[in-house]
Amino acid sequence: MIGHFCVLAFLMIFLVELGFFIIVSQTLENQARDKISLIGKEFEASLQSGASEAMIEESINRNRLDGINIFLFTSEGEPVAPDNYSDIQSVLDELLLRVGREEVGYSVTYRSGEAVKYASKTEYAGRPHYLFVTYSVSIVRDTVLNLQLYLLIIGCGVFAAAVLLSFIFSHKLSSGMKSMSDTAVLLAEGNYNIKFTNADYKEMAQLSDTLNYVRDEVKKTEDFQHEILANVTHDLKTPLTMIKAYASMIKEISGDNPEKREKHLQVIIDEADRLTGLVNDVLSVSKLQANMSELKLKVFNLTELVYGIINKFGYLQETQGYSFMLDIEPNLYTRADEEKISQVIYNLLGNAANYTGDDKTVYISLKSSMDGKRVRFSVKDTGKGISKEDLAEIWNRFYRVKESHNRPVKGTGLGLNIVKAILENHSFDFGVESKIEMGSLFWVDFPCVPAEIEV
Ligand code: ADP
Repeated sequence: MIGHFCVLAFLMIFLVELGFFIIVSQTLENQARDKISLIGKEFEASLQSGASEAMIEESINRNRLDGINIFLFTSEGEPVAPDNYSDIQSVLDELLLRVGREEVGYSVTYRSGEAVKYASKTEYAGRPHYLFVTYSVSIVRDTVLNLQLYLLIIGCGVFAAAVLLSFIFSHKLSSGMKSMSDTAVLLAEGNYNIKFTNADYKEMAQLSDTLNYVRDEVKKTEDFQHEILANVTHDLKTPLTMIKAYASMIKEISGDNPEKREKHLQVIIDEADRLTGLVNDVLSVSKLQANMSELKLKVFNLTELVYGIINKFGYLQETQGYSFMLDIEPNLYTRADEEKISQVIYNLLGNAANYTGDDKTVYISLKSSMDGKRVRFSVKDTGKGISKEDLAEIWNRFYRVKESHNRPVKGTGLGLNIVKAILENHSFDFGVESKIEMGSLFWVDFPCVPAEIEV
């Protein structure tokens, strides 16, 4: 990581310096051209205004101090100033090449070789003269080289700072990632007491939060699995023990007594039914989870279905003092998977009976809405109610509120999850309202259809 950071920093500094160098050298050269042309024109103007030789000499000397050379020739090629210039011929040749012999008042600024130059054919003392001004580019280049040196020093400083910062950031980042990956390994080994912490960067903090969420979810699933395993094993054990005990009793005691034998056999049948129920619940959950069970939709009489299920719970009224208060409209029809809906109603009624209060009363209602489009089934108990935290969880698989209940109907902790999966499959609205110590009301909205429509 640090390598990448350094390469990036180097490239950026290099590009900035290169760009800066090109712009600076170009600008400086343009400035030199402008300067040369201005000086040339000023000199020309002073010639035309009749400057004395002494003034010309003085101007040439002043400019030479700034690295600017001025040459003045007669049209015959005689140097007027400076008269001590050695290589007159080559200067003259270049000058003539640029401005020609014939035209007076022609001037040009250009770069040739190592200098920017101004050449002109002008009038002085009433006769044509040649003017030549040169300025060495090496002076410009020296300035550029100086700048380059400063830039290089600054660049090295910036690069060193970039390397240092890269080292600090990459160290922080990679040590954060390493600690997270170490923690993730612990999580994979089944240690849920770990906590992902990293708040150095926003993204890392988000990743930590997500991983903590994953940890909680994995832990929940594992807890659920342990719980269902414990529940199912426990629920399997009781009926199996009963079946074994009653079978032994028939073998040893009641075999010849038809009345007793009948009773004992009934217990065995009931317990076997309970086992079947449990196995079916577990199967339903896994099937619903895998979306394997398709809905067999048809129109049926919901009122009759509800009455049928209430009758199944009749034994609670007869033997255990339960009372079911009914408010059921006759002949309400809906379109749904009848078998699955009967499972929903059975589970909700079973729960209400399980969790209702000491008055052992359960209120069951089935009513159509004002507009006749919906039928609402609701079942209300007078029990302890469900706390807000538990309300969010009860629909989850294997969830059981951790309190012991008087349970006339055996539950597996799967009932409400099956209810939820079936109703979501149908896209029916459903819900629960509950207040602590006031009981709970579970409701489902079915579509109301006329009895005639058979699909
Ligand atoms: P169980 O087989 O344990 O009843 P369910 O999935 O049907 O499983 O219900 C999950 C949990 O929701 C129950 O263990 C119980 O704590 C709570 N619960 C369900 N119905 C009621 C109710 N009518 N009143 C109070 N608590 C309820």
